[in-house]
Amino acid sequence: MLTQATDKLNEFFGYSSFRHGQEEVINHILHKQNTLAIMPTGGGKSLCYQIPSLVLDGTAIVISPLISLMKDQVDALDTVGIPATYINSSLSNEEQQSRLQAMVNGEYKLVYVAPERFESGVFFRSLNRMKLSLIAFDEAHCISQWGHDFRPSYRSIVPTIQKLSNQAPYIALTATATQTVIEDIKHLLTIHNDHAVVTGFSRDNLSFNVVKGADKRDYVMNLIKNLTGEAGIIYAPTRKTTDQLYTFLKGKGIKAGKYHAGLSEYERKEAQSAFTNDDLQVMVATNAFGMGIDKSNVRYVIHYALPMNIESYYQEAGRAGRDGIDSECHLLFAPQDVQLQKFLIEQSSLEEEKKSQEYRKLQDMIDFCHTTSCLQQYILDYFEDVEASEPCGKCSNCLDDRKQEDVTKEAQMIISCVKRMGERFGVSMTAKVLKGSKSQKIIDFNFQNLSTYGLLKQYTEKEISQLINYLVADRYLTITDAQFPVLKLTKMSVAVLKNEELVYMKVQETKKPLETSFSEEVFQALRELRKSIADEQEVPPFVVFSDATLKELAGQLPGTKSDMLQVKGIGVRKYEQYGELFLDKLDEFRNAHEKNEDVVTEVIPTFEKKSTADDRPSHLISLGFYQNGSTIEEIAKERGFSTITIEKHLFKAYQEGYEWDLDQLFSEEIERHVLAEVEGVTPSEIKLKPIKETLGDDVSYFMIRAVLVKHELLK
Ligand code: ADP
Ligand code: MG
Ligand code: ZN
Repeated sequence: MLTQATDKLNEFFGYSSFRHGQEEVINHILHKQNTLAIMPTGGGKSLCYQIPSLVLDGTAIVISPLISLMKDQVDALDTVGIPATYINSSLSNEEQQSRLQAMVNGEYKLVYVAPERFESGVFFRSLNRMKLSLIAFDEAHCISQWGHDFRPSYRSIVPTIQKLSNQAPYIALTATATQTVIEDIKHLLTIHNDHAVVTGFSRDNLSFNVVKGADKRDYVMNLIKNLTGEAGIIYAPTRKTTDQLYTFLKGKGIKAGKYHAGLSEYERKEAQSAFTNDDLQVMVATNAFGMGIDKSNVRYVIHYALPMNIESYYQEAGRAGRDGIDSECHLLFAPQDVQLQKFLIEQSSLEEEKKSQEYRKLQDMIDFCHTTSCLQQYILDYFEDVEASEPCGKCSNCLDDRKQEDVTKEAQMIISCVKRMGERFGVSMTAKVLKGSKSQKIIDFNFQNLSTYGLLKQYTEKEISQLINYLVADRYLTITDAQFPVLKLTKMSVAVLKNEELVYMKVQETKKPLETSFSEEVFQALRELRKSIADEQEVPPFVVFSDATLKELAGQLPGTKSDMLQVKGIGVRKYEQYGELFLDKLDEFRNAHEKNEDVVTEVIPTFEKKSTADDRPSHLISLGFYQNGSTIEEIAKERGFSTITIEKHLFKAYQEGYEWDLDQLFSEEIERHVLAEVEGVTPSEIKLKPIKETLGDDVSYFMIRAVLVKHELLK
């Protein structure tokens, strides 16, 4: 039977071998054993039930708490020719009925449903009338009340399912479960110890980074710039921070989306699908942007503030790199974040006992930020993962040696300055004194006479604030919890002053882009092709091919069907659907490559590319016209758009970094006037109409917008 399984793996999914744990899990299921699979995110849990469903007779029922995920899964199965469907409340009644009927008729190999479906008697009776191959519980930790994402509706289906007359083996799958949760699942679903397959929690392709005292916005911008074109998620602690960060990124010309519970269902759906379809580069979100994200090519996850516990942190960070490609997780730690989490616990309606449990978990999370040993090991220890042995060698702590610098002297100056200021001021005032600022506030307090005044004048105020933040994060100083935080000395400050303790600090370094052994240009071209196919078929791009597959294609440039079938992720079915399209595209590059080794690395600006079918983004097409001398009116007429749309196109291209002569649209005088009007107004609050009214008829909206775009004041 296992050979059959391998054949299916090859035929339908194009993989030549199973990953660690998959074979064992599949084997248990094929022998009709209830089975538990604990594998890390991206470990390949779906195949653990999809393959048996192809080998066994009957239909597999897959229970998933995530409606948003079902469609993508089914689309993915569709493209490889596996009959599958989902039945959930997003469908009309008639559609539900007809899928239910087809299910009873045995037309599907897999049917995805939400737990709530089992509350329907019709559904239960339908199941009783058909042949079942297996019942899968995806995200099985939701079954357990000890888990961090307990869904009572999930747990309550277990007794219902046990009443089915046609039993089928159960398979429970999850990536995040503590020992208690694992025991609970085994007990509930009568899973024998021998049939629990735990491959460990380790995600070897992720590098964890804890960053203290950084300017968060600068850090985020740097990271996005270094990973241009790659998709990322930024988790923010509150809706407000999400909104603000989103506006900030948009203002910088980043293709960002946002997602939180304060938005309408429609807005959330739109944002999520734009992200899934690679139309957005960055998603800024609260933890409401949840388990439903099945996008496999997320290259980085940033936690903008401290998360509440390791479980949720690991699950959120784990959304990076599900396709197995190296990806980055960054946690931006600031001591004030702790207060927010404590506040949230304090405000919650939890019972006292549960509250103190949450405080303990929060403390584990804080310790994660303060530990100096391997971050990956810390997480694995937390989950009591026995396989955790070696340091990972690539987390920010493992790499720390290189970047450590002795800042004991600076630390002593800062600490004594805090002391001399009477431990009554916050970070920025302290930084001003050390910088030797001449601001009125300094004079008011007579701080220019302190012996520490101007001691660090070779640094910028921002750098000094950063140093102070580092000191606080490493507990050399502390910040009071008051609304206006005040710096105070600790035991450790005294030790530093007495030279009993040296202070080393990590110096922030901008990271190099991820390593690539393929041509970036070919990869981009394949990506564009994939996007156009995906848009046409209305499926997310990764359903066509994963990033991993595209990168392999771009690295190997296969020229024949059989070469192509060697590539990970391409089986016969996929080849039949897309193979030739991609071979054609690759031909262009292979020919060029053979003629001239250098051609593949040459960068051709998109808008100069000659191509018959114009597949460039719309705004770049407009830019192309504009650069060839057409006026905005002419372009609008030619393309059937309004002039405002064309203006927007040009601005968008400008914001993305395409050079064109924006300055010629207005005189310096107009520029000065517009800037004077918006002085001191936050960009999101800028209103064009009053500016126009003040400046009169000679200044058009287009000019005003152009000035604002030039100065990065318009999103
Ligand atoms: P998860 O465990 O998070 O549910 P998925 O089932 O979504 O992970 O799989 C993650 C990725 O790994 C998918 O892109 C999938 O196609 C790929 N994958 C799964 N099994 C294999 C395998 N045996 N060889 C290569 N890639 C695989
Ligand atoms: Mg999964
Ligand atoms: Zn490490």
